[in-house]
Amino acid sequence: MTAPAAVQPALGDANTLPSGCYWSTDPDDGLLLIPGCMARVQDPDADCTCATLAARLARVEEELREEREKAAYARRWYAAVAEALDAHPAGREIRTDAHRRAGR
Ligand SMILES: [Zn+2]
Repeated sequence: MTAPAAVQPALGDANTLPSGCYWSTDPDDGLLLIPGCMARVQDPDADCTCATLAARLARVEEELREEREKAAYARRWYAAVAEALDAHPAGREIRTDAHRRAGR
């Protein structure tokens, strides 16, 4: 097993875990592989199958696109509900009740 020449990232905590394999230094200054993919969990000498930075970026961009679609739908839904409430005889009371339920 040979360590790549790349600079090792800092160790993270539960919120900043590295998203791929990396090398760390143990207390005796030996190199320690921290696997980030199943290929290296099973065999440290295997080729790393962690997502590339470009693949991770593409995944995050897709998640952002999906969240934007959800937000756009939520805005359309809110506008439709507001119009329905405006047209309903009890709309004002329903809106007041909804605001109370939402904590606003
Ligand atoms: Zn890996």
